[in-house]
Amino acid sequence: METTKFFLSEKDMPRQWYNIQADLPKPLPPVLHPGTKQPIGPQDLAPLFPMELIKQEVSQERWIDIPDEVLDIYKLWRPSPLYRARRLEKALDTPAKIYYKWEGVSPAGSHKPNTSIAQAYYNKMEGVKRITTETGAGQWGSALSLACNYFKIECKVYMVKVSYNQKPYRRVMIETWGAKVVPSPSNDTNAGRAILAQTPDSPGSLGLAISEAVEDAATREDTKYSLGSVLNHVLMHQTIVGLETKKQMEMAGDYPDIVIGCVGGGSNFAGLAFPFVADKFKGKATKFIAVEPASCPTLTRGPYAYDFGDVAEMTPLLAMHTLGHKFIPPPIHAGGLRYHGMAPLISHLVREKFIEGAAYKQLEVFDAAIAFCRSEGFIPAPESAHAIKSVIDQALIAKKEGKSKVILFNLSGHGHFDMAAYDNYFSGKLVDIQMPEGDIEKTLDLIKDYPPVK
Ligand SMILES: *Cc1c(COP(=O)(O)O)cnc(C)c1O
Repeated sequence: METTKFFLSEKDMPRQWYNIQADLPKPLPPVLHPGTKQPIGPQDLAPLFPMELIKQEVSQERWIDIPDEVLDIYKLWRPSPLYRARRLEKALDTPAKIYYKWEGVSPAGSHKPNTSIAQAYYNKMEGVKRITTETGAGQWGSALSLACNYFKIECKVYMVKVSYNQKPYRRVMIETWGAKVVPSPSNDTNAGRAILAQTPDSPGSLGLAISEAVEDAATREDTKYSLGSVLNHVLMHQTIVGLETKKQMEMAGDYPDIVIGCVGGGSNFAGLAFPFVADKFKGKATKFIAVEPASCPTLTRGPYAYDFGDVAEMTPLLAMHTLGHKFIPPPIHAGGLRYHGMAPLISHLVREKFIEGAAYKQLEVFDAAIAFCRSEGFIPAPESAHAIKSVIDQALIAKKEGKSKVILFNLSGHGHFDMAAYDNYFSGKLVDIQMPEGDIEKTLDLIKDYPPVK
């Protein structure tokens, strides 16, 4: 009998995260203070993050131990299964071998608890009583609420308004684990009130919700802030995904020629890819594809530049691919991919040509999702479906060329709370959202005088 799932036992679960900073051929450009334009130090981040996470953010150690308390919670769903997508291969009639790492098995339904659990743990160790955050589609809010519940920390979630309205059950899920949720822009912060005064019907954006959560944390002694993607330490926590997958691919007797993931801030893609990128540094020829929505084309249309992580200009300046921090992406259903920037680590690796970007439109992405549902069965999150679209394209290229490529992708989460999007698709209401002419140019113009990345 042919194997469909590759399982690791709990004792084979990795005990360390992989820090790719130790192996970068060229180091990351420094993070800059927005006032002085000089590199920031750990003390600049101390109001927002616990010191242990700040240390991880800049660490040059290759391996970082995963605390026992974190491993203990990971064990509720980890190691996650690696699947060989035999039915999808058959449906596509491709000689390619397709594998996917299934992260939808976590309690929150995505990869995000891999970092939320770790972040809540380090906050708890340093006596933090309350954590604020933003959430786009609601997956990060769910994951952090879940994590704060385990460690008895109060949690407040600023949820992007368009998702708050589109996905009421995500909100209830966040509340089920104990966190408080408000739609962003909200009246609870200066950043939110400023936007509401200008644009009362603003759909919100991740960049704006970040401003609100950061302001809340920075103005309260007992509160820290937590980010679900983008930052180095977040991407590092996700590497448990790729480290498990490496062992599972060995069990399968294959090594990927192509590694694919969707990218919002970049964490699920990095988590799967970075342990394999380490091999590319040593000469492997693997191709890495980071897939984004055509309506928020950070990697494929945004320049590599210094920019703020948020709308209200409260964060330090990060060197990254960006559409400009004032860019408000159209309200597509893949809410988790609506972010103006991209993780500095991924942006850097794109610039150094280890990773490439690709962009797809909403309708073709849902076509791919349906092809997946009707072969493999699992209903993917609209975010993950971006990766699936790229996988199908690559599998069809392999078919045309008659090559048996090994394709690996991260199925980052399930779409059980996205059925309204599927409903729109079936009733023909889901359309490719055209970006208003000049939107990107306008927001990029605002950052053109920022320091150049050296
Ligand atoms: C949040 C989310 C994403 C996008 O975030 P990344 O940090 O880029 O991974 C992708 N897929 C799912 C299922 C998500 O919940």
